[in-house]
Amino acid sequence: MSGPLDGQGGTSGTMPPVVTQSNLTPQEFRAAFRAAHLGMAVVGRDGLVRTANDALGVLLGTDPARLQDSPAAEFTGLRDDTRTWLKYREVLLGRRDRLHCTRRLRQAGGRGLWAEVTVTQLPESHDALLSVADVSDRRDLRARLRHVRMHDPVTGLPNRSLFFERLAGALAAATALPGGTGRIGLCYLDLDGFKAVNDTLGHGAGDRLLTAVAGRLTACAAPGGHLVARLGGDEFALLVEESAGTQQLIDLAVTVQTALQRPFETAGQQLSVSASIGVVERPAAGTHATELMQAADTTLYWAKADGKARWTLFDPERNAHRMTRQALSRTLRPAVERGEFALQYQPLVGLADGVVRGVEALVRWCHPQLGTLGPNRFIGLAEETGAIVPLGRWVLTTACRQARHWQLERPDGPPLVVSVNVAVRQVWDSDLVADVAAALAGTGLPPHLLQLELTESAVMGTAGRPLQQLRELSDMGVAIAIDDFGTGYSNLAYLSRLPVSALKLDGTFVHGRNPADEAIVEALVQLAHRLGLTVTAECVESAEQAERLGRMGCDTGQGWFYSRPVPADRISALLGA
Ligand code: C2E
Ligand code: MG
Ligand code: MG
Repeated sequence: MSGPLDGQGGTSGTMPPVVTQSNLTPQEFRAAFRAAHLGMAVVGRDGLVRTANDALGVLLGTDPARLQDSPAAEFTGLRDDTRTWLKYREVLLGRRDRLHCTRRLRQAGGRGLWAEVTVTQLPESHDALLSVADVSDRRDLRARLRHVRMHDPVTGLPNRSLFFERLAGALAAATALPGGTGRIGLCYLDLDGFKAVNDTLGHGAGDRLLTAVAGRLTACAAPGGHLVARLGGDEFALLVEESAGTQQLIDLAVTVQTALQRPFETAGQQLSVSASIGVVERPAAGTHATELMQAADTTLYWAKADGKARWTLFDPERNAHRMTRQALSRTLRPAVERGEFALQYQPLVGLADGVVRGVEALVRWCHPQLGTLGPNRFIGLAEETGAIVPLGRWVLTTACRQARHWQLERPDGPPLVVSVNVAVRQVWDSDLVADVAAALAGTGLPPHLLQLELTESAVMGTAGRPLQQLRELSDMGVAIAIDDFGTGYSNLAYLSRLPVSALKLDGTFVHGRNPADEAIVEALVQLAHRLGLTVTAECVESAEQAERLGRMGCDTGQGWFYSRPVPADRISALLGA
């Protein structure tokens, strides 16, 4: 042996033995080298083993004498990758002090082991010291800990962390690997009514059910080798890497749903569950894990909202609609303040004489990015957010100002009523009487030239404050009309007790090709007249309809046959002012 060896680190320690000056004799060094528990060998510049100790022989399952003159890089795997190989060469040539790496080694007997391999330059020598420490136990422990960290203790399935790790890996691999499909898919599943099982039968039963569900899901995913994970609670995900297309995911969702249909037997009890599944499938390139999960979450929500126990496929259009709904809802109130709304007016025409009796004010949102939006896009949102109150106030004032303008334009013409739609929430959440009074006072419009349109559902069951408001409005001389009549309760007897003066018959009724509709309309009109109500037919689109509705006794008609909703100046022209 050339050069002194300090046999420190003789156990399975992982640090390389420190080579220092010592006053031991070469014989003592040799003895220490042989007795050490750490596998070691002295390697020459040529990379051949000059001598190996017993511990290395045991580690590799071979006689240490047989290692002599063999290339150390062979049994240590140092040749496996170029970078390590180059570093190893540098250590042997004395250009680098040390090399340290972890390798998977195969023993002569075939058993695999994980080893930490260190090669150190021996001072004052041309040789290097190779040490090999078995770190398999430590690796195993680490792997077991990782398994615990990455799996759900109840079902044994991969958990959320592992799922996201695999998803991120799959997205990266699908983009990097040529030759694959480059697509990825996901079934995101939630059990319907699982909470009820937990609440009524206890968490034990809930856990057993989840485990049984996990088993069936695993069986569904096994043929394709797909990952099944429990993302939390009663949510599971099946990840399809290298997806072949949407149909593969749909097939998988159907298989899962069929598999879950059979009742579950847990602790002598038969339990039936169903699942809602959101299905997402798309190219991996440009897809981010969070975005994919968000799409899956939205789709699962649709599956639930559409009636549960079903799969639903992600629909970009439906998603865009949802996004614009959110965006619109957020920007409604500031848009009212910025004055982004405009009114159009549609004439209400006497069916018998063709004279324009009034106009309905219909609001539009002149959206800076999306163009003109019809009320169906935002009135519901405005009601949800409460923005309907300031918006409704603006509509009311603008319509009254315009109506007053027309009145002044044609002082001798027949009176022209402006009809303004009022949402339920305006009746409940704001002082409608005060708002109307302010609009009339502010614009100078006489109350009898204003009509408010409320839907049946808004006035049905009305009692207390809202009814009081309607009475006060009626007492002021403002007309109250029931909009879209015929689509709701159509309870005329009840309506007669409310301060209502007009019915607007819904378009579906007017268009009704059903002969029975005609008889119904006729009876309705007769009854309405007996109760002192006038009747306007909505959505009159043809001369034939106008004629028929007139014959049935309707007083006025509104619809494309007469005019589309138009800006105020077009109404002025129409009135010949
Ligand atoms: P509505 O009060 O029943 O208004 C009549 C709707 O029918 C209008 O739709 C009108 O454009 C449309 N229409 C008119 N003639 C015809 C026709 O011949 N055929 C067909 N198919 N449709 C016709 P628009 O303007 O889209 O308004 C939709 C609804 O939005 C209105 O229904 C009303 O309920 C609501 N709305 C409009 N403006 C306001 C408002 O200022 N406040 C509130 N709360 N709701 C409003
Ligand atoms: Mg209306
Ligand atoms: Mg209507």
